[in-house]
Amino acid sequence: NIGEKPPVIRQLDEAAINRIAAGEVVERPASAVKELVENAIDAGALRIGVDIADGGKTLIRVTDDGCGIAPDDLELALSRHATSKIDGSDLLHIHTFGFRGEALPSLGAVGRLTITSRVAGLEAASIRVAGGDMGAVRPAALNTGTVVELRDLFYATPARLKFMRTDRAEAQAITDVVKRLAMAEPSVGFTLRDVSGGGDARTVFRADPETGDLFDALHGRLARVLGREFAENALRIDATREDIRLFGYAALPTYSRGAAVAQYVFVNGRPVRDKMLGGALRAAYFDFLSRDRHPVAALFLDCDPTLVDVNVHPAKSEVRFRDAGIPRGLIVSALRHALAEAGHRASTTVAH
Ligand code: ADP
Ligand code: MG
Repeated sequence: NIGEKPPVIRQLDEAAINRIAAGEVVERPASAVKELVENAIDAGALRIGVDIADGGKTLIRVTDDGCGIAPDDLELALSRHATSKIDGSDLLHIHTFGFRGEALPSLGAVGRLTITSRVAGLEAASIRVAGGDMGAVRPAALNTGTVVELRDLFYATPARLKFMRTDRAEAQAITDVVKRLAMAEPSVGFTLRDVSGGGDARTVFRADPETGDLFDALHGRLARVLGREFAENALRIDATREDIRLFGYAALPTYSRGAAVAQYVFVNGRPVRDKMLGGALRAAYFDFLSRDRHPVAALFLDCDPTLVDVNVHPAKSEVRFRDAGIPRGLIVSALRHALAEAGHRASTTVAH
């Protein structure tokens, strides 16, 4: 329409920007748990506790014994794109779960967030932010470590609140997230409790820190997460190709499932969902399983961080390999080899 003025362009304020970003970072309570537990791991925690109520919708509380946040840094930790984990000059060598500096400001924009923290040798302090409004830093009482409490997730974004599923479904998604991270960090202890209704806490999942070498610790942790039976039927995988190392455990074909629900892949310690890697697992078992059965495995790919990009999505659960053929080929050949050898052992045992 000639003569009509164009709409005015405005810079959004920080609270609005955070609410928009939160849409990507925090999809549901389980994504909040993922971000907070990852922060605890990045802080070097040895024990991490997660308490939830009502599927995480009313309460998520993550307690850790990590390095803590200094009182002077609390406000900064809640600011957008503020992180202690990278300096911005090098996005190629990311070795922590976090690096985007988005989780805490996003959570503070869509829920009521309280962080209480203590660095060894300093006083404990806490800060509160609700719906993007930040309070003052106050003195608090706490041992070294951090407690992050998130109440009423999405109260500030009612549209998102409507997409929450039942408490049961959200609690299940949280359990999955905690278990995946527990597999990624066998030397860290995890406790997940349901404190709904204010009654007695119910322990949903518990894993004490594992000791021993890489494979002992991983085997112990997998027994805890996937069950004794998996651990007793699991083949140890350890192979390297062109600077990519594959290790972990894959179950015998006789211990398979009716759905592809127990396949876990970690890239440089990070739980990922990746169609290509899932496809490689299926291809490896192709000759050993009928079409309606699915393998069970927990596989870790470690490589030079420059060969893989983790900065694909704000949730950081997707990765891109520079050359996907190498990890794919490595998974297929290492698993086929292990399965063939196990089959050979089984048949020679029968023969004698
Ligand atoms: P990122 O993890 O990408 O750095 P976050 O918003 O999740 O961004 O956290 C911001 C910063 O707050 C972190 O870089 C870290 O310095 C600090 N922080 C967050 N959680 C913890 C924790 N549990 N223990 C110690 N420091 C923490
Ligand atoms: Mg983080």
